[in-house]
Amino acid sequence: MQLFHEIHRELRPRSPLPELRVEFFGFANINNTIRLREGRLLVRLSDLLEGAPENVLRAIAHILLARMYRKPIDRDHAVRYRRYVSAQHMSRKAHLLRQMRGRKRIGSPKGRAYDLDEVFEELNTKFFHGLLARPLMTWSSEQARNRLGHYDPAHNAIVVSRVFDHPRVPRYAVEYIVYHEMLHLKHPVRLRGSRRCVHSREFQAEENQFPEIEAAKRFLRIL
Ligand SMILES: [Zn+2]
Repeated sequence: MQLFHEIHRELRPRSPLPELRVEFFGFANINNTIRLREGRLLVRLSDLLEGAPENVLRAIAHILLARMYRKPIDRDHAVRYRRYVSAQHMSRKAHLLRQMRGRKRIGSPKGRAYDLDEVFEELNTKFFHGLLARPLMTWSSEQARNRLGHYDPAHNAIVVSRVFDHPRVPRYAVEYIVYHEMLHLKHPVRLRGSRRCVHSREFQAEENQFPEIEAAKRFLRIL
């Protein structure tokens, strides 16, 4: 892709662009990846970006290459990318909602004590450069205790157990549950298997960056 060549030249003017392959991938959520393997760059873009205008593709090329070469991400590019993706995402979400209504009871992100959309956006800004597209956020319909929360890739939804929507539950505990599920968005499980919840080493390292992790675990009694 010509775009990647141009952006690469901007970021690393002196080194030639490695051989490059770009694929669109049907990630339910917005997950774009770049990998350098044996001198070849493999770029996977979410199919949400298929047919995106050139300036948006330019933005994602910049973001991915900058991330790979550990260069700062240009703010304009980040904003342009995010705006496009959330618009795309909203229209898809509306479509999904129409499909799901009647089949499955959908809760709301707004609980009595906490608004999950708000929690998501705060964490997104604080820990993910605002780059994750918000999935459907919902409190579970039952008071399930066995599952704190889960990410449902089929419906691109993060579901948090309603037990925690209570003013006596500290915000950091809710944030920790959501943060954990956001890491599942960021690190999709590629293998289909019996294990639904796979926590790679990178996943765990990132999870440990959550400042109140100890307190949250203590509160949730999962230590
Ligand atoms: Zn998990």
